[in-house]
Amino acid sequence: MAMAARSFLCPHLHVSSAGAAIREKPFLGAHGISFPRRTSRSGGGGALAASAMASTVLVTGAGGRTGQIVYRKLKERRDQFIGRGLVRSEESKEKIGGADDVFVADIRDPTALVPACQGIDALIILTSAVPKMKPGFDPSQGGRPEFYFEDGMFPEQVDWIGQKNQIDAAATAGVKHIVLVGSMGGTDLNNPLNRIGNANILVWKRKAEQYLADSGIPYTIIRAGGLQDSAGGVRELLIGRDDELLKTETRTVARADVAEVCIQALLLEEAKSKALDLASKPEGQGSPTSDFKSLFSQVTATF
Ligand code: NAP
Repeated sequence: MAMAARSFLCPHLHVSSAGAAIREKPFLGAHGISFPRRTSRSGGGGALAASAMASTVLVTGAGGRTGQIVYRKLKERRDQFIGRGLVRSEESKEKIGGADDVFVADIRDPTALVPACQGIDALIILTSAVPKMKPGFDPSQGGRPEFYFEDGMFPEQVDWIGQKNQIDAAATAGVKHIVLVGSMGGTDLNNPLNRIGNANILVWKRKAEQYLADSGIPYTIIRAGGLQDSAGGVRELLIGRDDELLKTETRTVARADVAEVCIQALLLEEAKSKALDLASKPEGQGSPTSDFKSLFSQVTATF
């Protein structure tokens, strides 16, 4: 029986059945801040001619739910960024507008990453292995659905090898900063996310994070809490380390806020060579975060 497209928000991992994608709502807000302009080393054509002084930034997983928002934000800030996207398929490329600055490549193939990385100043990694739901689950019967990863698309291949390939390709291209979005939960081998498909997803994500931290390239590792498809810029963001936030009531964050933190990390020296857990207070509690310099200044962890 063909499954209806549906999605489940696990504590920290949004999984989709049969590749069905829950797409991000329209972007709702942006935080304008001043930006020290840099000269781009990029060539590029078409839309890339926007600003000779802007920083050339590639976001991978640009067809994904958070990646789409980052790509859109980069394109909205043409005075600061020359945005590029990397997606896995022509279908994903069309979904985000099909512009010439969207490259189609599989991150498991190192050579495929070369054209997208050529001339970039910064890289934002938003790719992830995504488990699929086994067919036959009937929510009306109760119980929990089971999930699996497709052959060749396990976290070891996508979150470890695929992210390592991206870091290597960016390093070869002379990148000056890499922002990597990972997940909270990686300090606990027994985290339930590691049991999905018996694939240890958090272990492989963590291995890629360590590789980045050891690379010598300035980096920012953002370990997000459970992602929500809600408006950005309306909550107070919370920084943590070592999964402390998972022991609290505040362990979710809007994808739009994660996207903004990725962008702000590119702009602020305070974000460099740091690793942070990211969540937010519920809307209406606290003050919406707008001072990202202070936010990153709170971070002391390097891994
Ligand atoms: P998402 O929608 O699942 O997007 C992941 C993207 O990775 C997709 O666009 C996918 O391309 C791409 N991808 C997968 N394999 C690829 C390959 N071999 N080559 C090229 N691209 C590939 O992402 P998200 O839910 O916004 O999550 C963003 C990040 O936050 C991820 O690292 C995730 O693990 C992390 N995170 C998620 C949660 C949560 O609650 N979901 C919590 C904490 C952290 P296709 O579109 O072609 O499939």
